[in-house]
Amino acid sequence: MRKLIIAANWKMNVGPKETTDFINSFTALLGRKCEHTDIVLAPPFVSLPAASEKLSEHPLVALAAQNVSQHDSGAYTGEISVLMLKELFTHYVIIGHSERRSLYGETDEIINAKLLKARQANIKPIFCIGETLEERESGRLESVLRTQIEGGLKDLTAKDMTDTVIAYEPVWAIGTGVVATAEQAQETHAFVRSVVKDLYGEDIANKVRIQYGGSVKPGNAAELMGQPDIDGALVGGAALDPQSFYDIISNSAPE
Ligand code: PEP
Repeated sequence: MRKLIIAANWKMNVGPKETTDFINSFTALLGRKCEHTDIVLAPPFVSLPAASEKLSEHPLVALAAQNVSQHDSGAYTGEISVLMLKELFTHYVIIGHSERRSLYGETDEIINAKLLKARQANIKPIFCIGETLEERESGRLESVLRTQIEGGLKDLTAKDMTDTVIAYEPVWAIGTGVVATAEQAQETHAFVRSVVKDLYGEDIANKVRIQYGGSVKPGNAAELMGQPDIDGALVGGAALDPQSFYDIISNSAPE
């Protein structure tokens, strides 16, 4: 049985002060219904120190960065290294989000270098993949996802694969209010798992957690999380409010 993992991707929202306020309100809500879920918050880089300090009192909630450099140090203005993230007790990092791919030109090669670098530092990647509407409607869904998976995971060992979370996020569902139906999401998650099986074998494919992302809300979380191959969610807009993020987690809890 795979443990659910539900992560908040705050994107370029929630500064350090608001982060402290959010964590105070959010952790006050946490209770029995959250025990069976790994909960992760991904604030912007500047809010990581405030989040790290507050979360040291709350072992149930882990910290993620939204991006990381593929380099160790040096002349890379504006970049943040894995070792810097380690200093702030950041256990996860989102890599290859569709906004990084489309707005900042991140290729499968760059994403792969970042994944390998994160694993060298023992940080768990949340590796994002997903197709555009045009790719889905022109029948290229599976080839696009297979290329992203094979390219992103190149040279990742089997052990590192079990510490990697995949986030399937159809680009057409991110921030649009259009959510994939539970059937569409389940079918695609099953395909993603089959590609992991081709690469790493059945045992590892059965262990890897695959999150769904794209307009997840308190009202649709239970149906999505009830699908056999959906093991959690990566949540943008609906994770900006502590009550709404908590409701997604509690509505997803296994009965
Ligand atoms: C995301 O950015 O990863 C995301 C899924 O956003 P939203 O939930 O707002 O669609």
